[in-house]
Amino acid sequence: MTVTSLFSGSSGNAILVRAGNCAALVDAGVSFSRLTQALRSIGESPETLSGILITHEHSDHIAALPQIIKHTDLPLFLSRESAYEIYSQFSRRDEAFAARFASRVRTVEAGKSYACGELVFSPFSLPHDSVCCYGYTIGTEQNETILGVATDLGQMTVQARRALAGCENVILESNHDPELLKNGPYPRVLQDRIRSPYGHLSNQDSAALLQAAVRMRVKNALLFHLSRENNRPELALSCAAEALCALGAQNDVRVSVAAPDTPCFFVTES
Ligand SMILES: [Zn+2]
Ligand SMILES: [Zn+2]
Repeated sequence: MTVTSLFSGSSGNAILVRAGNCAALVDAGVSFSRLTQALRSIGESPETLSGILITHEHSDHIAALPQIIKHTDLPLFLSRESAYEIYSQFSRRDEAFAARFASRVRTVEAGKSYACGELVFSPFSLPHDSVCCYGYTIGTEQNETILGVATDLGQMTVQARRALAGCENVILESNHDPELLKNGPYPRVLQDRIRSPYGHLSNQDSAALLQAAVRMRVKNALLFHLSRENNRPELALSCAAEALCALGAQNDVRVSVAAPDTPCFFVTES
C-alpha cells in the first residue's frame, strides 16, 4: 500500500491511498482543478480513483465534491449524518444535483468494515463540531490496519486511541500551538471553538495521542492539518519528538509533517 498526503490544513485536505489497482482519496477539500493537478503530479488522475472516503462535511474536506460529482462516477463513502447535511446544502441550490449526489453516496457506520476495490476500511468516531466526524483505519484484505487517519478532533478519545494504536502508520492532526493561538490573529470566539473538546487537537494533545499509539504498534507518523496561522512545523515536530523521547522510542518511530499543498509520500510500500 502507498499513502501520499496531497493537501493538509484549513485551506484544504486530501490524502491518496493506493493498494494494487485500487486508489482512493480520503477527503477532497480543495478545488477540483487543484486536486486534479496534484494527482497528475504523482502519476494519478480522477479517472484512476475507485472512490472517496469523506471524514465530515466541513468545506476544507469536501470543496471538490460538486465537480467530482459532475466529472466522475466515483462512489462517496461517508456517514449518514454528513451525507444528509451535504444533501441539504446542495438541494437548497439545485435539487437535481442533490439527487445526483445522493445516488453516489454509500453510507458507512463506525465500527463496521467496508471495501472499496482492494482497500478495506473501517470508520471510527471523532469528537468535532460537525454533524458527524469519522477517522478511518485503512488496509487490505491481508492486513486491515496498515494506516490510521484522524484529521479533525478536539480531544483524544478511547475510540481514537484504540483505532490508531492498532495501525503501523498514522496520520494525526497536530493543529495548533496554544501560545500562538492565544496571541494570534483569530478572534476570541474562533479561538474558543478551536480549543474546545470538539475543535482541533493542539501539538501537545497530538503528541500525547501519538505516545499512546506508539506504546502499541505505531512506527510511522505524519503530523497533519497544521494551522498556517497558529502553528509551525518545527513546533509540532519538537512536541512529538519530546513525547517519543519520554518513551525512549525516538529511534523506533519516524515522524514527519505534511506540507500544506505539496504532495508528501508517507507510506511508500506496506
Ligand atoms: Zn472540520
Ligand atoms: Zn478540517
